[in-house]
Amino acid sequence: MKHSIIVGFGLAGFHYAQQLKKDNKEFLIIDKPENSASRNAAGICNPTVLKRYTLAWKGSEFLNYAMPNYKRFESEFKTTVFHPLPIHRHFFSAGEQNSWVVASQEEGLNPFLESTFHTKSSEGIRRNFGYGSVKNVGRLDISSMLEAFLTTLDFNQKLEERFDYAALEIYKEKVVYKGVEAKNVVFCEGFGLKNNPWFNYLPLIGSKGEYLKIKAPKLSQKQIIKGGVFISPIGQDLFWVGATFNPNNKVNEISAEGLKWIRSKLETLIDAPYEVIHHKACIRPTVSDRRPLLGQHPEHNNLYVFNGLGTRGVLMAPLLSCWLHDFIHLKKELPQAVAINRFEAYFCIPNKSYV
Ligand SMILES: Cc1cc2nc3c(=O)[nH]c(=O)nc-3n(C[C@H](O)[C@H](O)[C@H](O)COP(=O)(O)OP(=O)(O)OC[C@H]3O[C@@H](n4cnc5c(N)ncnc54)[C@H](O)[C@@H]3O)c2cc1C
Repeated sequence: MKHSIIVGFGLAGFHYAQQLKKDNKEFLIIDKPENSASRNAAGICNPTVLKRYTLAWKGSEFLNYAMPNYKRFESEFKTTVFHPLPIHRHFFSAGEQNSWVVASQEEGLNPFLESTFHTKSSEGIRRNFGYGSVKNVGRLDISSMLEAFLTTLDFNQKLEERFDYAALEIYKEKVVYKGVEAKNVVFCEGFGLKNNPWFNYLPLIGSKGEYLKIKAPKLSQKQIIKGGVFISPIGQDLFWVGATFNPNNKVNEISAEGLKWIRSKLETLIDAPYEVIHHKACIRPTVSDRRPLLGQHPEHNNLYVFNGLGTRGVLMAPLLSCWLHDFIHLKKELPQAVAINRFEAYFCIPNKSYV
């Protein structure tokens, strides 16, 4: 019997599978990579909030767990997936410069925000009011990491199909899916959770993000630029540029307004020529209270969920996977902020008005 069936293989499914692999526990990953947020994300790993100059919720704690985790993956798989790069936060007023200097001296933020700001900009970047540099951050090449992991699995460990909820037989001590027996199922479906008959009571709101891939040979690949949008280098003169944030639209479709908005933000930052290579859209798995969703189904003790990574999956997923692992295997309590039992009332009295 397998230990777990993992449904969905984005950052959540990947990190949970890594936890099981560490324990030599057998698993089967079932994934249909259709609308994967992980495969569309910029992959930026940043524990700060650059709009308000604050630390993200538990930003340092998540980062301290995540970085050694990605380094271990790189040495085990003999590959490079994490690219350390500074983020240059561009300013549009003298007020923003002042706020930066004040924030850079605060405890918690000072390991990340350089205390001085720069007024010279590199080729192709508009000068505006200069920029501050965020250190100890970077970009994860998520798709390469997922692919590297998948190629090491044999046919008993992965299945590329849409999970058929009606085919799951649930017993007290086990589950059976199309003849495969396992102790439990861990659903890591991102926004696909909306179709899950056991967990769709959870207030996963979802926020659509549209982004561009551009070619801009004059821009440097040595930093991520932030100012309205992120411009993140991905090699070969290419850049990921985005993203829009729309919690009211849940359709994976690009729009003319999205394109116009991204281009206008991009052009306030750069004056270098660029070519749009593609324009895409995907839904982030965001939650009404902006905290992740981890835990066990209120009625079926062998069904679990790992979701709600929101806008910071790269940063949070490693430590969250550890919390979920310890909850399932060591019966350790989950931190209340992420435990789905905070939404027990939604299960008892389903209310769809939050989506
Ligand atoms: C435009 C955009 C930019 C972003 N940029 C960043 C960033 O820079 N940094 C950052 O940290 N985060 C970023 N994010 C957020 C990040 O992508 C998410 O937090 C994270 O990837 C979510 O991972 P997940 O595994 O929960 O979901 P997903 O990555 O969506 O994975 C779920 C997987 O499950 C599959 N699936 C779902 N239902 C089923 C089913 N029934 N059967 C089989 N398979 C199923 C899906 O097809 C998918 O492959 C961004 C998101 C978007 C949309």
